[in-house]
Amino acid sequence: MDTRIKLYNIFKLKCPRCYKGNLFTNRGLFVFNKIFDMPQNCLHCNQDFKIEPGFYSAALWISYPIVLIVFIPLLFLGLYLNENYEISFKILLPVLVILCFLLQIPIMRISRAILIHLTINYVQGGKRGGTI
Ligand SMILES: [Zn+2]
Repeated sequence: MDTRIKLYNIFKLKCPRCYKGNLFTNRGLFVFNKIFDMPQNCLHCNQDFKIEPGFYSAALWISYPIVLIVFIPLLFLGLYLNENYEISFKILLPVLVILCFLLQIPIMRISRAILIHLTINYVQGGKRGGTI
């Protein structure tokens, strides 16, 4: 149950400590400007979001498996559609490329959220505690 709440708050891009403040200044998964703009601290519990310089470069390592989990089934779906419905790769390939670009932003944002949620624990009331 605790994991489900954490997962929910990762997808909602909420602060890992209080689950109330927003991780990004521009809310939502599909945004097209200020993609990585985060406030210095949580507006609700004052948790530091810029834990150390380069902290979020580790999010790249989290995004790789997510990309694989998302795109390998899409690739197989493309092969299936090509095989059974004779939809040409001339159509399927551009669709896949566009999907890649569209999903890039939410995947990067979720990766950052996962990283900070792995580093900082939830605290009831969001006042004490902090990094592991
Ligand atoms: Zn907070």
